Amino acid sequence: MKARTVVLTLVALLQAVTAQAQTKIDASRDGVDRESLMMTPDMTSPTPAPVAQHSFACASCGQAAGVLHLFGPASAGEVTRDSFSSRSTYKVAPESFERLRTIIVTGDAHTLYEFDLEIASFYCPGCRACYCGEHWARWNVFDDEDGFDWHDSIRGRCPMGHQRMLED
Ligand SMILES: [Zn+2]
Ligand SMILES: [Zn+2]
Repeated sequence: MKARTVVLTLVALLQAVTAQAQTKIDASRDGVDRESLMMTPDMTSPTPAPVAQHSFACASCGQAAGVLHLFGPASAGEVTRDSFSSRSTYKVAPESFERLRTIIVTGDAHTLYEFDLEIASFYCPGCRACYCGEHWARWNVFDDEDGFDWHDSIRGRCPMGHQRMLED
């Protein structure tokens, strides 16, 4: 009799576990549905589309050296730069917004460098050309101040041997 009770209990347990597993599957299905719902565009807060964008190609290999995206409005402009050194976002002063927009639309890397050398971290003014991370030899510069090694900047050397500060 005791053994039979154990078997019955086991069967009941198995049924319970199966039912639970089924519930879990349903729950995860529900989760997937909710996620796909969240993927649909939300009209109340649309992802801002860039006002201008440009991918600057490496003069040595043609790969992307740096990609810029400019976001408006001009009163609160921001530019993002993706390159081998880092991805960075910079605020754009309202009076500079149109100028930067033109630079990015035309892909004028030299004027971009004159506008802000850090945004144009992939550009060599000596060559008047852009290079990707494969073609910039680069190293960190530490500033020894009060006995601490502060990470000061990233310097680089282009394939032609020109050196510049890539990021400060
Ligand atoms: Zn160079
Ligand atoms: Zn390259």
